[in-house]
Amino acid sequence: MKVFKFGGASVKDSAAVRNVSSLLAGFSGEKLTVVVSAMGKSTNKLEEIVDALVNRDKNLFDTNLELLTKFHIEILGDLFTEKHFGVYQQIDEILELIARKFNEPIPENKAFLYDQIVSLGEVLSTFILSAFLQEEGHKAKWVDARKLIRTNSIFQEGKVDWNKTEQLITQNFLPLFDNNNILITQGFIGHTAEGFTTTLGREGSDYTAGIFAYCTNAESVTIWKDVPGMLNADPKYFNNTVKLNSISFKEAIELSYYGASVIHPKTIQPLQKKYIPLFVKSFLNPEAEGTIIHQSTENDNLIPSFIIKKDQVLFSFTTKDFSFIVEENLSDIFDKLTKANVTMNLMQNSALDFSILVDSKKVNVTEFISIFANDYHVKYNSALELATIRHYNDNTIAQLIENKEVLLEQRTRHTVRLVLKEK
Ligand code: ASP
Repeated sequence: MKVFKFGGASVKDSAAVRNVSSLLAGFSGEKLTVVVSAMGKSTNKLEEIVDALVNRDKNLFDTNLELLTKFHIEILGDLFTEKHFGVYQQIDEILELIARKFNEPIPENKAFLYDQIVSLGEVLSTFILSAFLQEEGHKAKWVDARKLIRTNSIFQEGKVDWNKTEQLITQNFLPLFDNNNILITQGFIGHTAEGFTTTLGREGSDYTAGIFAYCTNAESVTIWKDVPGMLNADPKYFNNTVKLNSISFKEAIELSYYGASVIHPKTIQPLQKKYIPLFVKSFLNPEAEGTIIHQSTENDNLIPSFIIKKDQVLFSFTTKDFSFIVEENLSDIFDKLTKANVTMNLMQNSALDFSILVDSKKVNVTEFISIFANDYHVKYNSALELATIRHYNDNTIAQLIENKEVLLEQRTRHTVRLVLKEK
């Protein structure tokens, strides 16, 4: 059995849904687990609906729900004629369930509310895709991931209970292949022991594909994307990007740690444990080779990869009494960072100062500095960029630092990281 994952872009309109159906026809006779995200940008819309609900903004709530409804109904209208009452009714019920939320008491735990509502994007998309595949003659069945993926009760960031999930998938999912070729399920969502819906964190559908593959001992996972595979740089920032044909699990984890955004970082670990290869391929050109991520490290250093993080702020702490920065201050600084929920993209220390780099969107500079103001002088430098090169050489570094000032540099054998400021 193979696991396929289709993201929001691959089901963003009726033409895209038709494309998924013809892509799957190319695998007829095979057993496939198909994990699907919410259509297009509907997760963002659902997030706005939750915000409007929490802020008791009825106008905004209605406007966004209307947009969400229109979006799905249009796709339905393109794909089905009136006679397919079943799927229209399924979609109506979900949309009505969301509409009713405005008149229900708002739970105190916003993350809980978020999960109960935002998870429905995936439910909507899989209802539509599964009805369409059946209509097209595929032996396909809709399966509820909320009954299979067991997580703890940390809403919005559910942690998977692997034993229970494996048990549920073995007992309630795998036998469905006896009578079906394609099982369609939702990415991104799970459930708690009490039966409440949870989500696995934004972009979590790749991870769901990894979970299903691990628990079913799948032969492979394919993530179908609108790019030809994993590229060595983001085409937004670089002109001459190159596809990575084959990289190791380890390299893929490194790249996603530094910020390469093609695959959700958690996806690789379960696959690596069972040596299940992961393919990244184009849903627009399914015959093309794409990228394979597997055990072999043989090709890892053939091509340098570039990862850019924009809008970074560099904070530097010095003790007020000019004492050295030692373990004691570091643990105090880390403690404060954890409490403030600040994640660092890079850190460095010298005798008298300690520097960290943070995404500017994730921190309010004045508030942040005030947390440390009693014990440290804090200076900062904003509008910076963090550039990481895997498998660098002098040329690739020169290329990146042209017209830029290098504020900080870190090198290991395979990776160089540079904090840069526009000159
Ligand atoms: N629909 C979710 C999101 O947009 C999960 C996913 O697509 O991976 O974050």
